Amino acid sequence: ILLGISLFFLIVALIVGQIMTKRAMKPIINSYTLQTEFIANASHELRTPLSVLKAGIEVIEFEEGKKFSSFSKSVLSDLKEEIRSTTQLVNNLLFLIRSDSGEQATVVESFDLLELMQQTLRSFGHISEAKKIKLKLQMQNPLIVCTEKEKVKQLLYILIDNAIKYTPNGGQVSVSYKLKSDSQNEQLYIEVKDTGIGISKELLERIFDRFYRVDKSRSRNSGSSGLGLSIGKFIVESLNGTIEVSSTLNKGSKFTIIIPLLKTN
Ligand code: ADP
Repeated sequence: ILLGISLFFLIVALIVGQIMTKRAMKPIINSYTLQTEFIANASHELRTPLSVLKAGIEVIEFEEGKKFSSFSKSVLSDLKEEIRSTTQLVNNLLFLIRSDSGEQATVVESFDLLELMQQTLRSFGHISEAKKIKLKLQMQNPLIVCTEKEKVKQLLYILIDNAIKYTPNGGQVSVSYKLKSDSQNEQLYIEVKDTGIGISKELLERIFDRFYRVDKSRSRNSGSSGLGLSIGKFIVESLNGTIEVSSTLNKGSKFTIIIPLLKTN
């Protein structure tokens, strides 16, 4: 009988506990949902004016560019860079919100990695030029792969963006890929290497944490948010892959992503 009574009270306590927890959590969940919706809407709304600004500057450059003084040219170049890094931040925020809520769609397709890399590097053309950084694509041969193209594209953006951001003027950023396969698996290795400031050993682990930045004073002037690598890691893991980094302070860093591929045939 005693055991029965104890069990009864235990069950009642558990049920009451659960109800109380649910009630206590409700305002927290509601405010989280509101906050998430707000960030998603704000990010979405910001994309259009950013595209309009970018297109406007391109038109001005095309029509009037030749008449500009070197000062005006450098102002325009700074404006373009601010627009590019803000667009990247907005895209990162949107990606994070969609992933957290499980909304991120999965689209697997066959595509040429060489073409994707050439396209991506082209979009970093003006910023690398402004910093006199040599952008090098180590590959020449097309490579058809079957995986989620948009995710690979975003990974490349995050890693190349960082490589340029953390490499002083006159440095070099190189990108390469290779396939490794055995009888069952095929793995894609993508490498982004820079000759930049590097990351100390103790901090290497932390750079993948959300909102973590090694040098917080940079955040104001280099479009740094501490989101890129945490999203990168999340994307790689959603592809069942891994991301590795090796780095030497004042020499440079090398980020390698390894993604298992779907066989195309
Ligand atoms: P951020 O927006 O600050 O660049 P990330 O999550 O992309 O955010 O990177 C986190 C931190 O890792 C950065 O603030 C920077 O200190 C360091 N980091 C990332 N990539 C590099 C790199 N290629 N070279 C040196 N440091 C890097």
